[in-house]
Amino acid sequence: MKKIIFATGNAGKMKEIREILADLQVEIQSMKEAGIEADIVENGSTFEENARIKAESVAKELPEGEQAIVLADDSGLEIDWLNGEPGIYSARYMGEDTSYRIKNANLISRLEGVPVEKRTARFVCAIAAVLPDGEVLTTRGVIEGKIGYEERGTNGFGYDPIFYLPDMSRTTAELSPEEKNAVSHRGKALQAMKEKLSERMRR
Ligand code: IMP
Repeated sequence: MKKIIFATGNAGKMKEIREILADLQVEIQSMKEAGIEADIVENGSTFEENARIKAESVAKELPEGEQAIVLADDSGLEIDWLNGEPGIYSARYMGEDTSYRIKNANLISRLEGVPVEKRTARFVCAIAAVLPDGEVLTTRGVIEGKIGYEERGTNGFGYDPIFYLPDMSRTTAELSPEEKNAVSHRGKALQAMKEKLSERMRR
């Protein structure tokens, strides 16, 4: 295995991926660095399906003979009181261009009066890898928490300010990037993928 290409344009995700996969000692490139553009239609019904769709769309665009592994992720927030919403629609919830201040305020208002024990939620991340022979591997990482009563913290992004970790007494927006990577859904899914890939490399 010579190279891993990650199907994302998000610089924050690339940084996290490089840190976690560093000891695989493989070159890691973003789609842009690999010079690949792909038309991705995320029409799956699970996080795993969407991750796979993204990875396969990029793998299709690889130059002939390129022995790269293509990775992609799909993630989101599931709130139990809302039957798993926003789920796979987390980025699109209330419209892609709506600010997270508005999205977060909306979710808090939909949970008005809901007691703390029923405010359970989780961030989920699925990672898919397309290997050079076309085989697809997937992993999933989850972090359990509760929806807070107000936004707290300025780190992270998206729904982090309303995602409260009772064990740490902080929201994920109040964790440093290192603290978040160590416990996050994406960190766990990537770690699991790293283990699967290094097992392959030993064969
Ligand atoms: P994706 O980039 O298509 O996987 O979209 C994931 C969406 O889920 C993001 O745009 C956020 O709304 C939400 N999300 C996923 N992971 C996190 C996180 O770690 N913190 C906050 N929001 C997240």
